[in-house]
Amino acid sequence: MIRELMPVPLVLASRNPGKLVELRRILGPGFELRALPHDAPEVDETGATFEENALLKARSAAAATGLAAVADDSGLAVDALNGMPGVLSARWSGAHGDDEANLRLVLGQVSGVPDERLGAAFVCAAAVATPDGSEQVVRGEVRGRLVRERRGEHGFGYDPIFVPEGESHTTAEMEPAEKDAISHRGRAFRALADVLPGLIA
Ligand code: IMP
Repeated sequence: MIRELMPVPLVLASRNPGKLVELRRILGPGFELRALPHDAPEVDETGATFEENALLKARSAAAATGLAAVADDSGLAVDALNGMPGVLSARWSGAHGDDEANLRLVLGQVSGVPDERLGAAFVCAAAVATPDGSEQVVRGEVRGRLVRERRGEHGFGYDPIFVPEGESHTTAEMEPAEKDAISHRGRAFRALADVLPGLIA
């Protein structure tokens, strides 16, 4: 009985402290999400899909820690760019994680695309892997459209140029909890939270 009340320990396969805060908020008090130990190996994101990359990271962290591990891989898929930057979202301009250069490059690439064809989606694959080899991966998406002028100070990456469907604000203009409620990562991790207890039992 008591065991059911204890938060489930999980390690997050990411070195991004912002992601730890965000996913603790999304997963809620039923899970004790721990940071990845410093000596855990780096993982090359060599997968062709968000799902493959999320699984690569979760498997590696589970093997390194002996704990169930969760990971995500996410990005922006622009219709007019055939779904790119996709899995290359973080390194679209070359340098890994240069958000400003990545955003500027995407804006340049859609500069000749008419407004009505600026559809895009944020996509997130969320994976869990256990040390005994069980694993599962789920996908969350939020559709929307790109805008050509940056708006908002919250968030990161492509948030200042992405307006979710049915909204008038960019995701950079939303408060964190408001973004969680509709975001690709919010949707993927809420779906993952539903399957986690069965997998980790
Ligand atoms: P990661 O897989 O979560 O590290 O994300 C890869 C890249 O996708 C980031 O560097 C961002 O460029 C982009 N991205 C993912 N999620 C978001 C988001 O919620 N807002 C803006 N950009 C995002």
